[in-house]
Amino acid sequence: MSITKWVYDFGNGKAEGCAAMKNLLGGKGANLAEMSSLGLPVPPGFTITTEFCTYYYANGKQYPSELKAEVAAALAAIETGVGSRFGDPVNPLLVSVRSGSRASMPGMMDTVLNLGLNNVTVLGLIERSGDARFAFDSYRRFIQMYGNVVLGVDHHLFEEILEEYKHVNRRALDTDMTAEDWRALISAYHVMVERELGRPFPQDVHEQLWGAIGAVFGSWMNPRAITYRRLHDLPADWGTAVNVQAMVFGNMGENCATGVAFTRNPSTGENVFYGEYLVNAQGEDVVAGIRTPQHLTVAGKLANHSDLPSMEEVMPELFSQLDNVRVLLERHYRDMQDIEFTVQQGNLYMLQTRTGKRTAAAALKIAVDMVDERLITEAEAVQRIDPASLDQLLHPTLDPKAKRTVVTRGLPASPGAASGRVVFTANDAVIQVTLGEAVILVRIETSPDDIHGMAVAKGILTARGGMTSHAAVVARGMGRPCVAGAGELRIDYKAQVVVVNNVSIKAGDLITIDGATGEVMLGKVATIQPALSGDFGKLMAWADRIRRLKVRANAETPLDARTARRFGAEGIGLCRTEHMFFDAARIIVVREMILAEDEAGRRTALAKILPMQQNDFFELFQIMEGLPVTIRLLDPPLHEFLPHLDSEMEEVARAADTDVLKVRQRSLQLHESNPMLGHRGCRLGISYPEIYEMQVRAIFQAAVDIMMAGGAPVAPEIMVPLVGMRKELTIIKELIDRVAAEVVGVSGVALSYQVGTMIELPRAALRAGDIAHDAQFFSFGTNDLTQTALGISRDDAGTFMPDYRRLGIFEQDPFASLDTEGVGELLHIAVERGRATRPGLKVGICGEHGGDPASVHFCDKIGLDYVSCSPYRVPIARLAAAQAALSSSSIQD
Ligand code: PEP
Ligand code: MG
Repeated sequence: MSITKWVYDFGNGKAEGCAAMKNLLGGKGANLAEMSSLGLPVPPGFTITTEFCTYYYANGKQYPSELKAEVAAALAAIETGVGSRFGDPVNPLLVSVRSGSRASMPGMMDTVLNLGLNNVTVLGLIERSGDARFAFDSYRRFIQMYGNVVLGVDHHLFEEILEEYKHVNRRALDTDMTAEDWRALISAYHVMVERELGRPFPQDVHEQLWGAIGAVFGSWMNPRAITYRRLHDLPADWGTAVNVQAMVFGNMGENCATGVAFTRNPSTGENVFYGEYLVNAQGEDVVAGIRTPQHLTVAGKLANHSDLPSMEEVMPELFSQLDNVRVLLERHYRDMQDIEFTVQQGNLYMLQTRTGKRTAAAALKIAVDMVDERLITEAEAVQRIDPASLDQLLHPTLDPKAKRTVVTRGLPASPGAASGRVVFTANDAVIQVTLGEAVILVRIETSPDDIHGMAVAKGILTARGGMTSHAAVVARGMGRPCVAGAGELRIDYKAQVVVVNNVSIKAGDLITIDGATGEVMLGKVATIQPALSGDFGKLMAWADRIRRLKVRANAETPLDARTARRFGAEGIGLCRTEHMFFDAARIIVVREMILAEDEAGRRTALAKILPMQQNDFFELFQIMEGLPVTIRLLDPPLHEFLPHLDSEMEEVARAADTDVLKVRQRSLQLHESNPMLGHRGCRLGISYPEIYEMQVRAIFQAAVDIMMAGGAPVAPEIMVPLVGMRKELTIIKELIDRVAAEVVGVSGVALSYQVGTMIELPRAALRAGDIAHDAQFFSFGTNDLTQTALGISRDDAGTFMPDYRRLGIFEQDPFASLDTEGVGELLHIAVERGRATRPGLKVGICGEHGGDPASVHFCDKIGLDYVSCSPYRVPIARLAAAQAALSSSSIQD
């Protein structure tokens, strides 16, 4: 029988694991092992693997005897390393028990510190530390943490006893508590726990250890962790590892400290050491927002207008040791790190390193700087940026010239500007957002329980907490603007009001926060467009050199077309002509055309539309300066254009010089019960060829006009929607060729153009070989193709999609990210069959999926020529296309 190894040791300059074993050891365990091997001062410990977590859940939460033996051996190794024994009354070993999954899930799962203390070993700790106050404080913290996390005792019960004790004994702060006070509190805790649970607090240290291990594995399935995984698309079967590690204490006196730091600024990306620390404190104190953390560096202190001394000043030697660790870790990992450290009686210990979460702006700056510093290559820089995160850089920031009423300032914890109505709870945030409001979640501080509110809020504002507080870290991860630690805010949850500098802001009032400056403003403040040069331009230029796929935009208005070009689109992949029809000034003529009783009536109305369409296309061609422009002929069901109100019917009747009764009758006639599968797409061109004829004439005449005006030559790509049968395309292509010949005949200007089709129906994909005889290009309309292949209405899927996502029937919404297995196979078939008929057939995609990074990868893999997406997603698609090219070249290597 092969025996699985469940437990991996680390510490004392060596380790059984390494950073590459993240899937097995979790991020924390793998990096503790790596730091040990690098010779950094890591307290010894061991990791129980994520594989065991899976085994644990699959086997009724039992611990096999092999695991017990492995843990015993690993514990013995820690004891040897540290020189103390677990449960020893004189020289007791204390350990921490922490979770650590593959992906970091800040604050989501449980941790127990100071484990191994009981009524006897606490006396040993007094001996060892020579500090009774510290020992009793550690023990009461342990009872509190273990009582809550492992035994399930409500933490308020501990808080109440502590507050009551302080009140009765006139102790204002925790620091006023003496050793005797803590000892008395421990007794009170013991009594309360026994009363709550009907059994005493466990004194057996091994029972404590297994209880904590079970609690950490159990926390993988707690509601907070489940929500977090859902929000971040992390699979449940990854499991968590458990790390058991010798405790080091940052709270054993003034020569002790604890801190968290980033090797570069995680908000801006600037190459400066960036972190916070506290003298004489235990790890959680820094992040919990209980004491105001101090800055690591003098520069950090000055930049944040802090009066508290920096570590650089208070502990210069240890600071420089830590700074060396910073340099070593960055060189080794070749990326910005997020580290945790503790100083115990003048000795530095490293407790964690991991890739640091950063804002999109910081990610960009760090990647570009690291190329300049020759730490990484251009290709690596391109791979480092999450394409979806570019969204944050492409959206507007506050207009520096706009009037603003700043009421206070906090820490610039996560950049971006956001305006919204004030809400004070996560639940209120969800309710208001459901009602269509934009909200800013305002809290004294946030906790993992607020995650659902943070996810829907436009921005987050807190009164307490530093740059590494829960609010700051989570907001950065989500790409939400956040101002943290705005200490002047006086929040009254009960009264639903926040008072700041004599201004009262009530729930529902509009405010604006700027996460880049930390400013909090009254009302809504105007915004401006982002700059696309600098680091952004550099990275995009690298991506453009690497990618194979071309990127176009879906655009029909001049504004869209200009935005698309600014964002680097290489043409228009889809101009939806119907959007031009919906214009308020034109809708009446369009209705007049649709509701006409015969062709003659339609032609009269179409003649009025022609010059408008021609002008639309002229403007587009002008903006696109010779880049390819794909124009799709009218697609939506006529049903969508029908008037509904009596007044609208009367208006149409007047315009068409007919009576309203006829309009009403024709309107009823055109009404469809399933319009998406009805009279739409090329079926319109088949029934009413004069509509397509007008559109095609407008396109060709605009092209001629541009060339006559000395503009860059255009070769319009005319695209026919919703083709299912070749014959449909044959008929419409004949019409297009005929009109082209007429325009050339009249103008005397030679025209080049292409006729192609959208592939939006499964039949079209399957019969692509046939259709390609008439089509010079294909463009996948994956919105309709998803709808028709899955038989799911694209307009109504929202009613049941959440259930399908929750149950894992769909991992992603198939209208947002391509169903590569099903719809993807249709794409694959169509590409192969189309190109078998017409080698080199140009194929693109213009459904929403064209801007979704995972779908772009798929399009690259099956050999499409281009993707087309909305203008704001063009940079995302450019970067995703480059990443796709890099991943396919690495597969081939
Ligand atoms: C599509 O169906 O994917 C498409 C791009 O067309 P529309 O969204 O306009 O139906
Ligand atoms: Mg479509």
